[in-house]
Amino acid sequence: MADLKLKLRELCREGSLKEAMHILLSINKLHVDPSLYLQLLQTCIAKNALSEAKQIHLHINDNDTGFKLSTHTNLQSKLISMYDKLGSLQNARTVFDNMSEPTLSSWNTIIGAYRRHGFPQEALVLFHQMQQTSVKPDSFTLSSILPACASMEAVEKGMEIHRTIIESSFLSDVVVGNALVDMYAKCGRMHMARELFDKMPLRNVVSWNSIISRYAQNGVLDEALSLFEEMPERNVVSWNVVVAGYAQNGFLEKALEILTQMQMLGVKPNSATFSSILPACTQMGSLEQGVEIHRRILENGFLSDIVLSNTLIAMYAKCGSIRKAREVFDKLPNRDLVSWNAIIAGYAQHGLVERALEVFNQMQQADVQSDQFTVSSILSVCTKTGALERGVEVHQRVIESGLLSEVVAVNALIDMYAKCGKIQKARQLFEKMYDRNVISWTTMIAGYALHGYGKDSLELFELMKHSGIDPNHVSFVCVLYACNHAGLVDEGCKYFNHIIPNLDHYACMVDLLGRAGYLEEALNFIIKMPVKPDDVVWMGLFAACKSSKNLWLAEFVAEFVFELDPKSASPYVLLSNIYADLGRWDGVQKVRKTMKDRGIKKIPGYSWIEVCKMVHTFCVGDRSHPQTQEIYAVLETLSWEMKEAGYIPDTRPLLNDVDEVEKKLLLCPHSEMLAIAFGLLNTSPGTSIRVVKNLRVCGDCHATTKIISKIVAREIIVRDANRFHHFKDGECSCGDYW
Ligand code: ZN
Ligand code: ZN
Repeated sequence: MADLKLKLRELCREGSLKEAMHILLSINKLHVDPSLYLQLLQTCIAKNALSEAKQIHLHINDNDTGFKLSTHTNLQSKLISMYDKLGSLQNARTVFDNMSEPTLSSWNTIIGAYRRHGFPQEALVLFHQMQQTSVKPDSFTLSSILPACASMEAVEKGMEIHRTIIESSFLSDVVVGNALVDMYAKCGRMHMARELFDKMPLRNVVSWNSIISRYAQNGVLDEALSLFEEMPERNVVSWNVVVAGYAQNGFLEKALEILTQMQMLGVKPNSATFSSILPACTQMGSLEQGVEIHRRILENGFLSDIVLSNTLIAMYAKCGSIRKAREVFDKLPNRDLVSWNAIIAGYAQHGLVERALEVFNQMQQADVQSDQFTVSSILSVCTKTGALERGVEVHQRVIESGLLSEVVAVNALIDMYAKCGKIQKARQLFEKMYDRNVISWTTMIAGYALHGYGKDSLELFELMKHSGIDPNHVSFVCVLYACNHAGLVDEGCKYFNHIIPNLDHYACMVDLLGRAGYLEEALNFIIKMPVKPDDVVWMGLFAACKSSKNLWLAEFVAEFVFELDPKSASPYVLLSNIYADLGRWDGVQKVRKTMKDRGIKKIPGYSWIEVCKMVHTFCVGDRSHPQTQEIYAVLETLSWEMKEAGYIPDTRPLLNDVDEVEKKLLLCPHSEMLAIAFGLLNTSPGTSIRVVKNLRVCGDCHATTKIISKIVAREIIVRDANRFHHFKDGECSCGDYW
């Protein structure tokens, strides 16, 4: 037995967690003491192994050999800090709540955890509770709760803590002093921050760096620079603050200049220097400067720095060069979870579902435990391309890796099921959720809206308010959107009157009025808006002009949209379609010429279809697919059958004849037609076909798909940029209203 215990400790030291777990589960519990548990938990932290951590926690709870967790405060504290580090706040909280008398260090851990996980409000509540006990906050507690006030801009609360600090004479503590200065600065009280800073009995370089960086972040670059030149002793961090200040305010060239200056003065940049500029490149999409920084990183020998390399991967992915991102990833000598997440997120952002999944599989093979961010980015790409079967696989992995209790992961699963057409499955998951947040509710509400189930959306929204969750502005957008797609004008107006609207809400209302045919009301609504309407608001009315065939108003509105969104092709396409619907081919020609003159290009339309866990992508007139010949043959048969059965799509009654439809379908079919034909070829009769399209379905394709659904006796489900269309027996669930 002693041997096994020794072996177990040895395995922990080596980091061979799986084998250690094997031994742990096989030996008599009597022999497992707190110190061994502590060592195992430490290994879980090092290996980022949440599911093993949970197993060990269970083992501790089930240890009935006279062992009581409640009597081992250091083990409880360790569990809390472990769950915090592994990102499972809920489990950390459960352990904390079970402590009969939480120690100072556990209070500090749990308060810090809530703050770091983005729940400053909860951190403040806990701090308040702590003040009711006999445990007195120390400098660690204070310097951890002040940033919580800062992130909520809760300056009143911050001032209250300031008083506590004065009373408990912690003001001379430089760490606490720094946190206080920072709190005032972040709450926009720069004068107060500066006054405190000037009065600080003891200032260290952190104090200087922090006040300079606040000036820089507020865009007061002159003051930042002058303090930097006032400064008694500068370290590399001080330089970094100034470099970051310029970078984050969008002056990338200037930031690079200061970097050069710093190197010339013999100050060697560290990895933080670069990791402060890179996110600015990422945000601004400045690939050119990004490449330059990459070069300097190489020059300074920092490429083995994993944090920097991960930031580089994210930068390249977001600046559009996924190939360079992959290059950096491939060259990494060691990869951590963040590296895998960065490259997967990169592929996901680019919609490259198969690549993302391929890397995800490699990650599993390399035995790297995924976290909720891995699965939510992999799910986002499944959602985007409608890859339901793959999504179901990921769901299985989520269960296996013990992530089903993580809200972010479950929210992503709900979104995936809802947007892949499995709304009931989404609801099941939602119902089983232990702890729903506003995003869970909003995702589900949006899911119903997307399917056109307006009533269910509104019901859920009421339920949400009832259960004490405050809707955010996105929840209201979803509710208005639900009203739109179910034609619930009165309900929409009712909800609208209860909110402080932003542009998204105004756009929804215009859309709602316009769709219901109240064009004049919609126009009046826009004119009376207290804020300047943007292109999206005008687009709502513009689209309504199409369904009402109101050319005069359309031409009037078009001018606003062209001016507000000069680069977008969709208003031009819309206007051209309105002309076409009315048989005004001169108008169509005119729009085409304007587009050409102004150099406006259409966004390419894409459709995705998943068959046997493979996602196939099609664009308009695509002939690149290996099954192209068969696909076009299917379309030819379909168009012949349509002709035989005497169908003529009625979208353009004046002009359309069968030949015209046929020409379009066979010569240059829209992407969803190709995807549907591919689906018919490769799935068994009777099964439904699911297609996802990145743009709105056009009137012709909509009409054609209705007929196809009848001819082939299949349900065809198309999710376009706007909503779900369930085509069946020649009808569509949207009621031709999308
Ligand atoms: Zn089309
Ligand atoms: Zn439809």
